[in-house]
Amino acid sequence: MSAEVVPLSLVATAGRATPAQERLVMRTLLDAGLAASDPLLVVEVPSAPRRGRRASAVPLEQARVLWANRSCHDLLRAGAGELVGRPVVRLLAPLGPDQLQPQVLRRGRPGRSHVEVLTADGTLVPVLMQALPASTGRTWALSLAPVGTPAERAAQQRAGAQERRFAALVEHSPVPTIISEAGLRLAHVNDAFCDLLGEAQSDLLGTAWVDRVADDDLPAVLECVERALGGAPSAGEVRLRRSDGQQRWVHLRLSPTASPGHGAGFVGTAEDFTDRRAFEERLAHQARHDALTGLPNRTALVEAMTARLAPAAGGSAAAAGSSMTCVFLDLDNFKVINDSLGHDAGDRLLVAVAERLRSVVRAGDVVSRWGGDEFVVVCDGVPDEPTALAVGEQLLDRLREGVELDGVRLDVAASVGVTRATDRHRTPDDVLADCDIAMYRAKRAGRDRVALCDEAARTHAHERLVLTLELREALAAGHLTVEYQPVLDVADAADGPERCALPAVEALVRWRHPQRGLVPPDLLVETAEANGLIDAVGLFVLREACGQALRWDAELGDLAPRAVNVNLSAIQLCSPHLVDDVAAVLAQTGLPPERLCLEVTETALMQDGDAASARLLRLRAMGVRIALDDFGTGYSSLARLRTLPLDSLKVDRSFVLELSQGHPQVASAVIGLARSLGLVAVAEGVESSEQAAALRALGAQQVQGWLYARAMAAQELVAWRRGEQHPPGQPPQPPQAPEEHAGS
Ligand code: C2E
Ligand code: MG
Ligand code: MG
Repeated sequence: MSAEVVPLSLVATAGRATPAQERLVMRTLLDAGLAASDPLLVVEVPSAPRRGRRASAVPLEQARVLWANRSCHDLLRAGAGELVGRPVVRLLAPLGPDQLQPQVLRRGRPGRSHVEVLTADGTLVPVLMQALPASTGRTWALSLAPVGTPAERAAQQRAGAQERRFAALVEHSPVPTIISEAGLRLAHVNDAFCDLLGEAQSDLLGTAWVDRVADDDLPAVLECVERALGGAPSAGEVRLRRSDGQQRWVHLRLSPTASPGHGAGFVGTAEDFTDRRAFEERLAHQARHDALTGLPNRTALVEAMTARLAPAAGGSAAAAGSSMTCVFLDLDNFKVINDSLGHDAGDRLLVAVAERLRSVVRAGDVVSRWGGDEFVVVCDGVPDEPTALAVGEQLLDRLREGVELDGVRLDVAASVGVTRATDRHRTPDDVLADCDIAMYRAKRAGRDRVALCDEAARTHAHERLVLTLELREALAAGHLTVEYQPVLDVADAADGPERCALPAVEALVRWRHPQRGLVPPDLLVETAEANGLIDAVGLFVLREACGQALRWDAELGDLAPRAVNVNLSAIQLCSPHLVDDVAAVLAQTGLPPERLCLEVTETALMQDGDAASARLLRLRAMGVRIALDDFGTGYSSLARLRTLPLDSLKVDRSFVLELSQGHPQVASAVIGLARSLGLVAVAEGVESSEQAAALRALGAQQVQGWLYARAMAAQELVAWRRGEQHPPGQPPQPPQAPEEHAGS
């Protein structure tokens, strides 16, 4: 059979073969070509000059694939039948304009050239291309023999197969992956990487991927590349530029690879964490900023202060020559705005204040929200205390310009405490503690002002602290007592108060300190309020007073006071368990609710607004009576007064004093108001019979004051009612007499 095999050209030219033999030879050649291990192609140049013309090279651009064997498909990584019809130049490495077209397709003569073929995944493989022209004059058989020794070629094939498997693996991986040549050109990209950059695979292949790295991150990326090329995996967080101009943060990991196809290089993955990073940045921002105003919060403020207080010298602020100044601003009457205009308006006011403060300070200064209606400003480069005070004044002045909300202008004022950091301030807490002292000094001095923390203020704050500790001990040791001041009907009072009916007594707390003497109740209450002790003090007085009322019943019968008045502090009124506490004391002692009257102040009522009124309503529903104390000294809206569940109004002592100074107007108005609202008008601080007469003429129904009796211990009241002893207030003291208690 093999003797029959002769070259097809001879068969054809000799004309010795039958058509059946020719077909057999053709089939055999085709099968051999199909099975050949060398990649084979048959190409056609439709417009090639016919045989017989002058021999010349045919331009490769015009050649198209007619047929290719399996090995050729493998080499070019093309699917079955994909190559047919393709221009041959598209299978070659792109040739620059200055590179000569390889002269392979020649009429009547074989041609050969070293070229690189381009596989479907972008790999370039060097081959020896040999062309055998066919007798048709338009077709050539091309063999593409990969260059290298058989061992090299086998290795290359293995690498190719490996690469194909790798490519198949990463192609649809969600992780953006690239294969880069050592020269940083992209040899392979997967879909995820194309999506990441918003570019087509064909636009990316063969280009330098580092062109897509953000300029700032380029040095870091090149460092990673250097390490990867040195054989070590490397990684970094960098930004890549998308085709639409956006930047994406990626975690770039490079691992070295070497493949016979493209030599040394590396595989890179670029995991996009832009969204996670943005989320983390948002969280980090939230953790250090106030949600409402966007200002740095306490955490950020303390960090900023720490950085200013802990300079390289490692010492205190002064040691480092720093002159940090801290300004603590507490808005005055913010609660009133919140309660009267609503929380939304309150919020907008805080935002406006934040903006105002930010607009006043210099670059580098910190404006932060400490919480609620408190702001802290930290400034640098303040040389001395007078300048620090001026900084505080300037901030307050800008706040005093007011704020406009929905076309309504609101006045803004603040109590401002200023501290300039010195040697004594080692931590932010030291500075803030002094700011706090200064701010309370400004508050005590009447608000809407700026104060510094000087030695006197610091001593005062220290004494307050000591007093608080002592009060706590006194409370626990049962050293507080209660005294009772009679409240009389104005008609009876004139005829000898001790024998007539006693409508009420006001319970007043007393603390006789072993060293300090009698601590003024105002100071005691203020200290207890400031340090969370007021609930305990208030409960103690309430229990004592309710229990005492019943003990007097037993001892005095008809002479016993009909009711006890107990003062409620603003903080007690804000407490959600006030009503339960009162109910529990009434239940424990057995005092009928209508024999208890709670005295509240206007300011206290304004502080917790609606909640406070609701509590009073519940108390009133239980039968407890309510008196509005010190009326006329606070701010209450007259319209609101009508809606409050009140039984009596207590005209403040200051208006009673004005009576004897020839100014009866306020006392008269207050008594008139009480009567027109159907409330009992009680006058406090009556010290003279002239005042008493005037009050009676103005229509006051009850009176209380030193003219009749001072506050006394429970047993003294028994003696007084039995006529066994003059009341501590008798004979009446002149108004200018010293206060009844030492140390006030
Ligand atoms: P307040 O409730 O207005 O009590 C009346 C104050 O006026 C008492 O002072 C009383 O001693 C004083 N006073 C009575 N008559 C006269 C007078 O004719 N002339 C003068 N100059 N003063 C008179 P005190 O006991 O010093 O109490 C002062 C304030 O301390 C009270 O004012 C009340 O606000 C508060 N306070 C006293 N005890 C308690 C208590 O148990 N709880 C609460 N939350 N506050 C209390
Ligand atoms: Mg009172
Ligand atoms: Mg009062």
